[in-house]
Amino acid sequence: MNEGIRRMLDVQVLDQELDKLDKDHKLLKDEVDKLEAEYARRKKILAAMATQTTELAKRRAALELDEKTAEEAIKQTTRRMEMVKNARELEALNHQMEAARATLGNLDEQLLTLMDEEEQLQKRDHDGRESTTRFTHKAKAEKARLEKLMADNRQLAEGIKLDRARAEARVDEKNREVYDWLRQKQRLLPVRPLQGEACGGCGSLLPPGVVAQIVVNEEPMQCPQCNNFLYSEK
Ligand SMILES: [Zn+2]
Repeated sequence: MNEGIRRMLDVQVLDQELDKLDKDHKLLKDEVDKLEAEYARRKKILAAMATQTTELAKRRAALELDEKTAEEAIKQTTRRMEMVKNARELEALNHQMEAARATLGNLDEQLLTLMDEEEQLQKRDHDGRESTTRFTHKAKAEKARLEKLMADNRQLAEGIKLDRARAEARVDEKNREVYDWLRQKQRLLPVRPLQGEACGGCGSLLPPGVVAQIVVNEEPMQCPQCNNFLYSEK
């Protein structure tokens, strides 16, 4: 194999390892992001439930106050009934009493519904908190595990980058420029094996003269279509 190609292949192998590490690192980061998003989602639900609990308590306090007022009205009407002077007055007081009792009944009903709501909310809040505590405990350990893997991954990548710098220093400057340009442009592998009489990069058929030169391999050859460097595996 042509020496220039071989040296570029050395760089390319390291680039492939770096690409793989970068991809793994991104997947690990996604996992951490997912854990954090789930934690934020749970916190938001708990905060909403806390707000709702406060609102229900306020509504209950207001209803209880209304209830006291209604009870007071009934007491007053009862007292006035004891001192009633004529049938017309009694009838009017009876009406008042009926209305006050209806109001009280209505308030009682509202209070019962509200207390039911409070009870359900309290249960959901309690379950949510317990489940979030369990989740947080597990997520913390999982996050630490992922972050350790990410740190190991970066350490490995740093070592490979040093190897790559050494391998790259052995590549001709002209080839290096083309290699880097191809890698940036295509984000793929710039050095490809010949596939029959076609380019291993873009697949286009190569002129027989070019194929022959690649097989002889006296100098690094490039595909006229995609510019990838080509070599023969024979
Ligand atoms: Zn090509």
